[in-house]
Amino acid sequence: MICMSYLFTDEDPECEEPVEYTEVTVNTTDRVDNLYIKLEKLGMGKFGQVYKLQEKRTGKIRAGKFSKARLQKDIANARSEVELMNKLHHPRLVHCVAAFQEPGWVILVLEYIAGGELFERIVADDFEHTEITSVDYMSQILSGVGYMHQQGIVHLDLKPENIVCVSKVDTRVKIIDFGLARKLEPGVPVKVLQGTAEFVAPEVIAYEPVGFTTDMWSLGVICFILLSGESPFQGENDTETLQNITSGNWEFDEETDAVLSDSAKDFIRRLLQKNMKSRLTAEQAVNHPWIKDKAISSTKTLSKEKIKKFLARQKWQKTGKAVLALKRMAMLSHKSDSNSSPTTDTDDSESKKVFSFLQEQLQRPPVFSSPLKDQAEVSGSSARFHCHIEGFPDPEVLWFFSGSPIQESKRFEIEYEDSGSCTLIISDVLPSDAGVYMCQASNSHGQAETSARLTVHCLRAERSIRDGTVKTV
Ligand code: ATP
Ligand code: MG
Repeated sequence: MICMSYLFTDEDPECEEPVEYTEVTVNTTDRVDNLYIKLEKLGMGKFGQVYKLQEKRTGKIRAGKFSKARLQKDIANARSEVELMNKLHHPRLVHCVAAFQEPGWVILVLEYIAGGELFERIVADDFEHTEITSVDYMSQILSGVGYMHQQGIVHLDLKPENIVCVSKVDTRVKIIDFGLARKLEPGVPVKVLQGTAEFVAPEVIAYEPVGFTTDMWSLGVICFILLSGESPFQGENDTETLQNITSGNWEFDEETDAVLSDSAKDFIRRLLQKNMKSRLTAEQAVNHPWIKDKAISSTKTLSKEKIKKFLARQKWQKTGKAVLALKRMAMLSHKSDSNSSPTTDTDDSESKKVFSFLQEQLQRPPVFSSPLKDQAEVSGSSARFHCHIEGFPDPEVLWFFSGSPIQESKRFEIEYEDSGSCTLIISDVLPSDAGVYMCQASNSHGQAETSARLTVHCLRAERSIRDGTVKTV
């Protein structure tokens, strides 16, 4: 049946296509390229890139999350994401269908979710946006999060970007991105230094043990933005945002306060509790009157304009995300240096200055600090083109041969390390590989290129260009 015209609820099982979940083990023998065709890029993340894939055998469309994994630690992280996803078989959570480990990469093949980010859909003209529709999204998200928590797993990166719509034509959502998720064992404290400033709970910033309600705080922030378009802790920069969260002070602006039902406000208030023990659990949240009793929600149309602004700002900020970790570290060391004494205004303005200086310093268009060099190889051997790229945000890299983009394959391998070191390895060189190779790096500030020539000498005979004779090498 088609579920186009009405809202999905978890009690509406007919809308859900049955899924056969499989226990995924990481395939270290096959290469993803042999089994899937790589189609367009779907998104970029902290650890790599996500591409649309088509399975060669079945024609099925999937999403492939390619994570750089050169160090044992990175491989372990990507493998842990697979292991956690094996425990997360729920219609509101994206599921994993296969995984591959190749030199330098771990690739997770996921169900393809076609509808894009929830917030992008909400602002679309043909979408109704009221408390009632928002309750529907929140109860779906709670159903997925509640299931995760039952399995003993915390997501730790709940934010609007990671809530996507199943398709372009219905209102079902799914939670994606278990890259930071962790299994919590009773009695084993887990502290993390990760997350996205606007959505992290106070205990994360304070580097105190996280719990299941750490996710509930993030849901409070998501719900606040969903209903008001305002981000409750957003400051001028990440440092200010983190300070706003730590202080625990937030309020609804006048306009929002007037529009929202008391029950909606109460729901958010019970999630945005600084003390994690006072926050609603997922189970309690599902039973909160705002979620349970749709009749008490306001039917007023909510403004989409502020959500549009939120989305625009989010896109802009994404470019500077990598500095967050640095800032957080600095804040923590700052805190311990001062022996946990309350931060003074002078300290604050000093750290703000340092951070904005750091951020400014980091922003740069790509440059090749070490360009490509011409190479000459004998056919059958392998050739390596190496260069070093600098720039911030992390440049995206493309390689070209005679002007056409190079697709990675068994013979053409591309390595790109966080340090900026970038290598193209051509194995089993053929005479037809001779020509000009170009590496192109681009980020939001600009683009740069470097190129070099590969000359291929034939093993048995080389035609001398100068005198037109054939000589043995
Ligand atoms: P982040 O920096 O957000 O933590 P990440 O490296 O952990 O990123 P994901 O959030 O899992 O990666 O994926 C990055 C983007 O790729 C998503 O925001 C989304 O646009 C797209 N994407 C991820 N998984 C899927 C999927 N299963 N189907 C369609 N698109 C997807
Ligand atoms: Mg993500």
